[in-house]
Amino acid sequence: MKSHTSILAILVGLPLIATAVARSESATPAVEPVAIDATAPAVVEPPPAPLPFQTTHTISKGEVLGTIMPTYGVDTERVRAAALEWHDLSRLRADAALIFSYDGVDPLPIGLRYALDADRTLVLTRGAPDPTGRQTWSGQLDEIVYEHRLGRHAMVIKDTLWEAARAAGLSPADINSLAEVYQYDVDFNTELRAGAILTVVADELWTEGRLARLGTPMAARLVNAGETLVAVRYAASDGKSRFYDGEGTVRRKAFLRSPLAFSRVTSGFSHQRYHPILKRARPHLGVDFGAPTGTPVRAVGDGVVEVAGTQGGHGRFVKIDHPGPYASSYSHLSSIAVRPGARVQQGDLIGAVGSTGLATGPHLHFQFWVGAKHVNPLSIEMPTQEQLQGADLTGFRAERDRLIAILDDQQEGLDSGEPGLADADEGELSSDAAEDAAPSQANPG
Ligand SMILES: [Zn+2]
Repeated sequence: MKSHTSILAILVGLPLIATAVARSESATPAVEPVAIDATAPAVVEPPPAPLPFQTTHTISKGEVLGTIMPTYGVDTERVRAAALEWHDLSRLRADAALIFSYDGVDPLPIGLRYALDADRTLVLTRGAPDPTGRQTWSGQLDEIVYEHRLGRHAMVIKDTLWEAARAAGLSPADINSLAEVYQYDVDFNTELRAGAILTVVADELWTEGRLARLGTPMAARLVNAGETLVAVRYAASDGKSRFYDGEGTVRRKAFLRSPLAFSRVTSGFSHQRYHPILKRARPHLGVDFGAPTGTPVRAVGDGVVEVAGTQGGHGRFVKIDHPGPYASSYSHLSSIAVRPGARVQQGDLIGAVGSTGLATGPHLHFQFWVGAKHVNPLSIEMPTQEQLQGADLTGFRAERDRLIAILDDQQEGLDSGEPGLADADEGELSSDAAEDAAPSQANPG
């Protein structure tokens, strides 16, 4: 019996000794475990305070609340009901996180957090069980309240306006709307020069003394190849906020020049072209725009989504039926943001650039039809102009002068006060020139 006890003691003690040895391997390997055993009973320590901890559950595609919650011992229905005022948790986003918190004593989570977006987090807390012994949960919304300031931001364009504006912190939607006012003056695919400078006055969102991110740009000035283009955002009496040029004119066409705000044409429309994958000549009845995977793809005109799904060599594919005999399509998408039958407006996000289907690399294959006939999308243009009138025009001019004063006022500060930026620009420009001289990217399908 005695021998059994000591064997048991050794077995129980073993992990502790092993841990101690592992922690101080080279220092005092032989003595230390004994020392710990000798001193441990002598020290009177209170039981360790429970250590709260968190477990993060990343939601996999196809996972639902009803399968996740039971694995954490959480009452699915109670949690869903507690959150319902703000969000229906039966619709979870793949790759989003559910963060379970524990107090270190209770084996079940005492709380649960789920971020609805960058600013709003759902906070759910478990209370005392109800009379039937069932879990109770309550919810609240934790929302970041921002302080808004107007700030000026200058960005030097190295490659595309898109990349420069993203790097400066503008959101994809804001860059697209900003580009709309410029896109009839500048062909972003061919006319934008490296070294062009975009200066914006943007709504800045501050929290706890730091700039969290940029909100809506209110005014912008693009200096490109000796030309200066101004854009001012204004909320007209129709309730819509748009960017206007310095005279209060907004230009709009039935169809955008390109479904991508910023990109390069990597392969044009042709009736005979050597196909890099099929390795034979065949017509290329569309235009390829080279752009990184994930670049937003916009509907070139108002219409109804006819196809949104996978279609052979086109990969993930969207086709839009426009008023009249017109239709447009978008191939090789990495993701699709619309459903068949959905009504879209010009400029709406319909998906993102990818390389699905028959594609050698990320690009957008864009097609346009008049009736059943494929036409060159780059040759279709139907401009209309809208000029602000009356009180709208008066209001616009006041807003324009206010914002342009901010653009001008601090422009001087940039020129003299930030030598580092100017130095960096020089280097970036010369490396860009080197890249331009190198062979261009592979020609995708
Ligand atoms: Zn193509």
